[in-house]
Amino acid sequence: MRIVLLGAPGSGKGTQSQWLVGRFHIPQVSTGDLLRAAVANGTALGLKAKEAMAAGRLVDDQIVLGMIRERLAEPDVGQGFILDGFPRNLTQARALDQLLAQIGQPLDAVVQLNVDYGELSQRIAGRRTCSDCGRVVNLLTAPQALAAERCPRTGQPHRLFQRPDDNQATVAERLRVYEAQTQPLVEYYRQQSLLRSIDAEGEVAEVSARLEQVLAR
Ligand code: AMP
Repeated sequence: MRIVLLGAPGSGKGTQSQWLVGRFHIPQVSTGDLLRAAVANGTALGLKAKEAMAAGRLVDDQIVLGMIRERLAEPDVGQGFILDGFPRNLTQARALDQLLAQIGQPLDAVVQLNVDYGELSQRIAGRRTCSDCGRVVNLLTAPQALAAERCPRTGQPHRLFQRPDDNQATVAERLRVYEAQTQPLVEYYRQQSLLRSIDAEGEVAEVSARLEQVLAR
């Protein structure tokens, strides 16, 4: 199954991708994760991407497309993949269509995760990542469960950090960029009859169930 998850920052693309990985045994391809790894490793690509990411803008299409081309050429995506955070604009969506047409593996579905804007800002404010296992959690929605949980990597409590671009000013810009550049993809994929929309508010498990339902159609 080849899926794109489409949604604003904080709509749960990463969380639901992780659920899909377990459910369908296909890899999550997150351009945000790939870019953060490049920045952390100080690669030439990371150095180019760093400034745009910190400001909440999109990284240059050519950089992102090069990265996606390489990633989709790896053997583990042969059975399918979940694209999380890509495509982010029409240029990327058209390039993806071309790339997938060349390898004869078109998309099966694009799922739009709908979350109210007020809720998005709240979710992002509470979002933390474990620096050891990479799990993304929310301090606001599940503080007790989180305190009791141990990191599967270390056996110790999670060591949580906040993404540097999850601050208020950058989040406002990321939401603006989403509206202006990514939102038009909803219509693009609707016209290709690939679009399915779900309400992505409520418990994580409830959203996963809705996701599974629309993917079964
Ligand atoms: P994310 O983890 O998906 O929220 O992405 C974090 C940041 O990485 C974004 O705010 C952008 O600066 C950059 N980024 C991630 N994916 C893309 C993409 N497909 N195109 C351009 N920039 C991206």
